Amino acid sequence: MSEIEPFEVYAIRYATVARQAAENFIGADPHECGAPMDYFVWLARRSDRLYVIDTGFNEAAAQRRRRDFLRSPVEGLRALGVDAQQVTEVIVTHLHYDHIGNFDRFPRARFHLQDRELAYATGRYMTRPFFSYAYELEEVLAMVRQVYAGRVCFHDGDAVLAPGISLHRLGGHTQGLQVVRLWTRRGWLVLASDASHYFANMRDSRPFPVVASVTEMVDGWDRLTELADSADAIIPGHDPLVLERFPPPAPGVEGIARLDVPPLAAPR
Ligand SMILES: [Zn+2]
Repeated sequence: MSEIEPFEVYAIRYATVARQAAENFIGADPHECGAPMDYFVWLARRSDRLYVIDTGFNEAAAQRRRRDFLRSPVEGLRALGVDAQQVTEVIVTHLHYDHIGNFDRFPRARFHLQDRELAYATGRYMTRPFFSYAYELEEVLAMVRQVYAGRVCFHDGDAVLAPGISLHRLGGHTQGLQVVRLWTRRGWLVLASDASHYFANMRDSRPFPVVASVTEMVDGWDRLTELADSADAIIPGHDPLVLERFPPPAPGVEGIARLDVPPLAAPR
């Protein structure tokens, strides 16, 4: 692998919200302490490629759903020198509102999406609020329009986008959830997105309650372990610990963690 140029990888926090334990773990004791949920988008880049992974939500969505909006994901990318207007590759891990809002801010991008995700988000399970709640109908419709405009790049399962970056459908949280595997200077790293919202979901085998298939979610954790070179190279989608465990890209930069360097402390 040494001939492949490694990616720099960043997690950019854009929002946060307080949560009860029962909202984060199936079967949590009501007296158990909750953990805040952070919201991230991610950036992977090297000299010849740049990928934005998910596009977050905007301020209006934050108000509707009562999340604390810290800054636009587009602003967070700008802090890393990335102009959303110029981005050509966006990977959509799944179509939930906190992963696909703002995609209109990427006018030149094509969107990498699993076949199963669009089928799920427009299919029979969306007749039930339990499954449809985390989707925004207008965003799903807008993504269908992107399909007709030729801007969606569909994948079915595993796909290599370039040497050192691949997509893997795990399902579980949604039927078409995909994760991103990246070659970095510390080996293979996986952006797990909502395959594991917190380090603890996967580590303690405690599934997150927003789920299409619990068994697929559990199998997905095994797959993550296969795909990554170490436990600390599996980056959960919503855990505030990400910003504690990984250093900022430069001293004093807040709300951004560099993930392709060794973690600051061992996983708890
Ligand atoms: Zn999410």
